[in-house]
Amino acid sequence: MTACAEYEPLLIDRAAGELSAEDATRLEAHLGGPGACAACLAEAAAFAEALDLARLPPPAEAERRNLAGLAAPLEQQARAAARRRAWPARAVAVVAVAAAAVTFLVAPAFTPRGPHLDVVELPFTPDTPVWEAPDPDALLEAAGAALAEATDAGSAAAESDPILEAAAGWNDLAGESL
Ligand SMILES: [Zn+2]
Repeated sequence: MTACAEYEPLLIDRAAGELSAEDATRLEAHLGGPGACAACLAEAAAFAEALDLARLPPPAEAERRNLAGLAAPLEQQARAAARRRAWPARAVAVVAVAAAAVTFLVAPAFTPRGPHLDVVELPFTPDTPVWEAPDPDALLEAAGAALAEATDAGSAAAESDPILEAAAGWNDLAGESL
């Protein structure tokens, strides 16, 4: 016998103690009263039994006392170990900072100057081509000529375009066959 699919998640939540108040009301209505669902009741009982088996017994008084006595020395040991571990790292950090400070403050006095570079003056040659602002009229004229040339070439190409010719032939063929 299996629980109703709708209520099974609620049964699981209830067993885990995570059922919301709203779902709890819904589930109790399903499980209680004259029309109680036997399948879900059986499932709920099975969940409760399984959880009881899995639950650890509460620690005995002696166990609790022993654990409480253990905690303090363990904590002290852990702290001491952390301090011991931290010591070399702190020493290294202090030495590194000191070394960096010494390098920054003292080293420039002992550092030889960088190589001296002689500035070589390049001779000015007057025959080097110099950029000059173009004449706007000349530019416009050149652009117009180029445009006219391109347009002529374009129309000439359009007249003898093999693709257009092929397309026209295809159209003729298509017209005949239809
Ligand atoms: Zn049910």
